[in-house]
Amino acid sequence: MSPFSGASKSPSRNCQVSSHSVTCMGFFGRTIVTFLPFAPRFVVGWVAKRYTAGENLEQALEMMRQMSSEGACFTIDVLGEEIQSLEESSWFIKEYESVLDLIVESGIDANISIKPTALGLLIDTNTAHSNIERIVRKASEDQIFVRLDMEDNRATQATIDAALAMHSRGLDNIGVVLQGRMFRTPEDISSVCELSGPKSDFRICKGIYLEPPEISYTNYNDIVDATNRSIDLMLDSGAYTAIASHDKPVIEHAIQSLESRGLGPGTEDPRHESPVSRCKGKGPGYEFQFLLGVRGNIRRGLAKQGHRTRVYLPYGTKWYEYGMRRLRENPDVAVHVTKTLLMPWTNRR
Ligand code: FAD
Repeated sequence: MSPFSGASKSPSRNCQVSSHSVTCMGFFGRTIVTFLPFAPRFVVGWVAKRYTAGENLEQALEMMRQMSSEGACFTIDVLGEEIQSLEESSWFIKEYESVLDLIVESGIDANISIKPTALGLLIDTNTAHSNIERIVRKASEDQIFVRLDMEDNRATQATIDAALAMHSRGLDNIGVVLQGRMFRTPEDISSVCELSGPKSDFRICKGIYLEPPEISYTNYNDIVDATNRSIDLMLDSGAYTAIASHDKPVIEHAIQSLESRGLGPGTEDPRHESPVSRCKGKGPGYEFQFLLGVRGNIRRGLAKQGHRTRVYLPYGTKWYEYGMRRLRENPDVAVHVTKTLLMPWTNRR
């Protein structure tokens, strides 16, 4: 059975996309984003409700308990963005410590995702590393994995360096996100794998930030192809590979690549002579990841086939800032969101 059964039967723009439709999407998206700041806050809140798990940890836990029955596990994100002063990082550290306590106390199948710029990465590297270490060390006590989200190109090298610095401090319960659209990604995969060996652990996504053409692919087909090549490179390097895309051509490619390498539900990862010890809740060398509220039917289809599926679950009070920033960064998101609201059958929660 295809994981896509139950998803929209109408032809997706992702299967055959023309440059004309991309231009229309861009125009439509930018128009929405231009007018969005004038929308009443409650309208934005109503939209955000679909994509966030609530304002506090209790609501996030309730949501995870409900969704666990769908075979999902989670990566929890505390909503928030780049800080302007190092003092602001204390709040994030405390909140993440509470998240870790909750994961342990509740026994919920979850790990955490953090944005390095919320811990000061673009202000002071040493302080940011100490902040990250504090969270990663606490997580390691309970074998909980920590993912460093990848932000825009100002933070790419610093984020990779932060993860490698934790490895060199004996903490290997950490991994980065790499973005398929970036020209540098294949080299980043090789250099991380060279240093971290079989403990390398990536999330691969297309990348939400619209980066300049000097450093990234900007065309839909090129981004899909590059993302697929990165998936293959990660799999061939023996790294744990978390495939984070809702796009049919990427998911279908990943399934074929996994099968051709003997990876799949219920099998031991065949790429290593002896098993690699990983954190709690990891799949057999790979997993699929989805954003909360996006293409639940595909996610449930994959889970039904036995694949490990993880939901990225943001919660917190800063949903307005989070939503507006995502929309500004990539107006295509506005088109996806509008389409979801007007044609809910194309994108089930
Ligand atoms: P698209 O072609 O953009 O989307 C395919 C289809 O999915 C769309 O047609 C639409 O139906 C649906 N869809 C996609 N996004 C939305 C949405 N927001 N709302 C409604 N429907 C939608 N990017 C980073 O730069 N750094 C990160 O750390 C990062 N972490 C991520 C973690 C996870 C778990 C996921 C799933 C994505 C993450 N991303 C991150 C975002 C990613 O880079 C893409 O921008 C995003 O996933 C859209 O790309 P896509 O592959 O889903 O394909």
